[in-house]
Amino acid sequence: MIRPILRPRYMKNLLLSAALIGVSLATASAERPNLVVSIIVDQLRYDYLERFQSQFTDRGFGLFYKQGAVLSFGRYNYFPTSTAPGHATVLSGAPPSEHGIIGNSWFDKRTRKSVYCAEDKSVEGVGITGIDGQRSPKNFIGSNLADQMRLHLGSRVIGISMKDRGAILPAGNKPAGAYWFDSKSGHFVTSTYYTKSLPDWVVDYNNKDRAGSFLGTKWTRLLPADQYDYEDDAPGERPLPGEKKAVFPHTIGSKTNTTRSAVMPTPFANQILMEFAMAAIEGEGLGSGERTDLLCVSFSPVDYIGHAFGPHSHEIQDTIIRLDRQFDAFFDYLDQKIGLENVLIHLTADHGVAPLPEFAQAQGIAGGRYNAATQLLDLMGKLSDHFGPAKYFLYPKFSSGQLIYDHSVLREKKIPVADVDKFIREWAFDTGLFQAAYSRAQLLDGLAPGQIGRAVFNGFNGERGADMILIAKQFLIPTYGSGGTTHGSPYNYDTHVPMLFFGPGVKPGRYDDEFYITDIAPTLAAILRVELPSGCTGKPLVKMLTDPKQARIPAPPRVNRR
Ligand SMILES: [Zn+2]
Repeated sequence: MIRPILRPRYMKNLLLSAALIGVSLATASAERPNLVVSIIVDQLRYDYLERFQSQFTDRGFGLFYKQGAVLSFGRYNYFPTSTAPGHATVLSGAPPSEHGIIGNSWFDKRTRKSVYCAEDKSVEGVGITGIDGQRSPKNFIGSNLADQMRLHLGSRVIGISMKDRGAILPAGNKPAGAYWFDSKSGHFVTSTYYTKSLPDWVVDYNNKDRAGSFLGTKWTRLLPADQYDYEDDAPGERPLPGEKKAVFPHTIGSKTNTTRSAVMPTPFANQILMEFAMAAIEGEGLGSGERTDLLCVSFSPVDYIGHAFGPHSHEIQDTIIRLDRQFDAFFDYLDQKIGLENVLIHLTADHGVAPLPEFAQAQGIAGGRYNAATQLLDLMGKLSDHFGPAKYFLYPKFSSGQLIYDHSVLREKKIPVADVDKFIREWAFDTGLFQAAYSRAQLLDGLAPGQIGRAVFNGFNGERGADMILIAKQFLIPTYGSGGTTHGSPYNYDTHVPMLFFGPGVKPGRYDDEFYITDIAPTLAAILRVELPSGCTGKPLVKMLTDPKQARIPAPPRVNRR
């Protein structure tokens, strides 16, 4: 391990600024943690932590509630609230308008093809073949905290998730590694963007076939059944693949399964991620040196389970209670290995989720499912009736309410874009399904009023954005397979998520301040005293920092890295 060497010129400036703000350099350096752990729990709603708190341990989620900082009013400030934009925003502090990850996929008008957020045809899989291995962060625009930590602190960065986008996007542009789960082999894999071959510690973990060890076992409730809220067999729940009913106990595939996908929508996949995270700390020596390293882990199974059973199910409650125990073990490991006093941990989610429409209806709330394909066909027919027969959409899909016009057709037929905008907007309101509609022209000119308008504006990127964006009414979701629920809206059930901090630089307490997802990265940057990520639009919650002056301390000089 080489001690960071300060260059003389920077040393002079640093001493000067240290003198001005009255901080000793030795103290400043000692205050930085050895390891930052960035935890994203995919689809973790804020209310889960309040609802299930009496069933938590002291050192799982309790670590944040008892010894850390809890932001009770942390929300997403853009639309759409889907996985890739969330994972790209947390550590960049930038909304999709800046970092360009405007959805899990989007339509590229130049190539006339749909682009997956993490696709990169110039690379190949490592440990996996085919397109599922052709992944990198090349579609992400700008830098994030992982990049700033590498630049300023020489940090070693690792990203881990079941989902490729969950592993890749938080880890930044050039981490030491990003690993995701191959549902076929049950192995963690990567791409040639990161490395030519899997490190020994990854191969060793893969050889254990932990996913395979859960096949054929049962998922039962951890606590007695009467300690679970609501119904187990509720209308609208979607059974797991291979099961007929959406009730406990669940059977996790069978020993004869040739793939490992049956483990993914169960709490045991969180266990696998936790074990793999520990293997990464051991294998990469994270947090063991004088650097401040960064481990990003995204826990995907909550999302799979929430989509199938909804936020008021026994399955989601059991998953969160088990996740609390899994965190308890993980934080205990960090304490033994590195010492929790040397670890800065933040935990958040990439989005929430809507209740099952059937659950909402049972509560007397208007909600339901609409068939997006049927609606699009209706719109196409009405456009042809009004403007003359033609194919008006370049991409005949209605994904996240986004519509892409075929501008060559409009030019040919001499139809002004504004006329089509107006027609579609009136059609949308006429269906009774939509709350708002925003045209590309409106968004480019920044004319999207109100909180929803602002959210759509923050999620709109000029190069990649659609021609028209329709926002469905509250509690109304597009048909999503048979039953189940989804997320993506600008409403609080999708935007209100936990934002938790623990460790050096964090003043424990509950903070009810206005706080947005874009404020996490600048808050961490202030604690770590590194430069803000390039597209960051958020601001640190200064009163949560143990030394508010930290927020004003300039970034330290570059270090001499290996
Ligand atoms: Zn997600």
